[in-house]
Amino acid sequence: MTEKANIGVVGLAVMGSNLARNLASREGNRVAIYNRSVEKTNQLTADHPEANFIASESIDDFVASLSKPRTAIIMVQAGTGTDAVISQLTERFEKGDIIVDGGNALYTDTIRREKEVSAKGIHFVGAGISGGEEGALKGPSIMPGGTKAAYASLGPILETIAAVAEGEPCVTHIGSDGAGHFVKMIHNGIEYADMQLIAEAYDMLRQAGGFSPDEIADIFSEWNKGELESYLIEITAEVLRQKDSKTGEPLVDVILDAAGSKGTGVWTVQTALDLGAPVSGIAEAVFARSLSAQHAQRAGKPELPAANQVWAVEDKPAFVEAVRRALYASKIIAYAQGFDAIRAGAKEFNWEINLGEVAKIWRGGCIIRAQFLNRITDAYRKDEKLLSLLFDDYFVAAIAGTIASWREIVAMAALTGVPSPAFASSLSYYDGLRAKRLPAALVQGQRDFFGAHTYKRIDAEGSYHTLWSGDRSEIKTD
Ligand code: NAP
Repeated sequence: MTEKANIGVVGLAVMGSNLARNLASREGNRVAIYNRSVEKTNQLTADHPEANFIASESIDDFVASLSKPRTAIIMVQAGTGTDAVISQLTERFEKGDIIVDGGNALYTDTIRREKEVSAKGIHFVGAGISGGEEGALKGPSIMPGGTKAAYASLGPILETIAAVAEGEPCVTHIGSDGAGHFVKMIHNGIEYADMQLIAEAYDMLRQAGGFSPDEIADIFSEWNKGELESYLIEITAEVLRQKDSKTGEPLVDVILDAAGSKGTGVWTVQTALDLGAPVSGIAEAVFARSLSAQHAQRAGKPELPAANQVWAVEDKPAFVEAVRRALYASKIIAYAQGFDAIRAGAKEFNWEINLGEVAKIWRGGCIIRAQFLNRITDAYRKDEKLLSLLFDDYFVAAIAGTIASWREIVAMAALTGVPSPAFASSLSYYDGLRAKRLPAALVQGQRDFFGAHTYKRIDAEGSYHTLWSGDRSEIKTD
């Protein structure tokens, strides 16, 4: 009898081929591969004979090459490509088999797909996979949803290929149906905020501090030795050190300043708006990319009034430290907002998501991997129901140690006209959260005035409406 594979991969572009190689490199795995166009299959087989793949040219042969219960990971273009492959597999799979979508699916699509596929007795697992090309090959952070039964069979395989952080695999069962893709979406949203915050810090160091890209690269490398230690800080230093092969100039000065995106940041903000979860740092990061991409509008601008104050930096080391502190504080806000959004999603969709475990599996393999995720795990381990990360002792102390610099940096940026939407909105969020009273009371008054939307009182139960155009007396409405 020909040997069968215990796991298969459908879709052999960048992510799928690297994930298949990762799987094949782990003891105990035999990997089946299939791609719609056979060229990619042939190329991968030829380039990596050591992987000993079982390659198929047809989906029928691919399914036949899998041992039961069959497990196939789909790594194709999100959207219609994923639906097409799911439909091919469900036509051929049997009860108890497992289909895993490892692409970047929208979690609502995953909820729909899980319903459709599980109706046939086949398990469907939407698994967020982070780490890009290198992560897929060497060890990504994996966020699987789906049933506990599916994870019992799939989990041990995923644990062999995931990144390892402090001896623990960066994979855990996130929750049912779309929970894994939801958490991956928020991960990407935090990634947007983190990148924007780093970019704003760079801009201040460059514009106000007058540092060159090489000098800023050194600053980031230094920062990477402390509480900001993270993959994004590390690669930022490398990007800033890179010279353009054509002109010899710093590459960052040659790259067009119009940031692209593939949609997960937008999904995060759209979802957060529906959930009423204030992810203002992530939203500012998405909008900052949108503004940068309005190149025609920016190119066509007239001479607009500028700030009339110059950011005169006298003590450069103190300035660098102030920017570092402001960056750290703003970054804490981005994560606090992201974790709040996960909690809001879990409540809405009845997922039992362990926030401390989420922080743990983001410590390795993924783009937002960072030293301080350990602190987030500790915070949720101490108090599972923590109302905000910002209320944990460690983060209270962290913000206390940065707040003066944070305010100074945001104020100076505003006074001198250095755009800093994510720094500024993070600070405003913090001040909003800690405020004893918010002007929302006035908004409620306005709403009641023009729309009889009613308001609640601080000193009595029920809803009230004021007769604004009448005798201005108040009536209780429920
Ligand atoms: P991709 O460019 O998103 O997709 C190309 C793959 O999809 C090819 O194998 C292609 O087959 C297949 N495909 C497209 N439409 C199909 C259809 N109707 N039927 C069957 N196959 C179809 O590939 P990728 O960059 O490797 O990403 C794969 C998934 O991982 C995506 O969902 C992506 O969002 C996600 N992801 C990517 C990254 C990253 O860094 N690139 C990181 C995390 C997650 P053919 O060769 O026949 O055209």
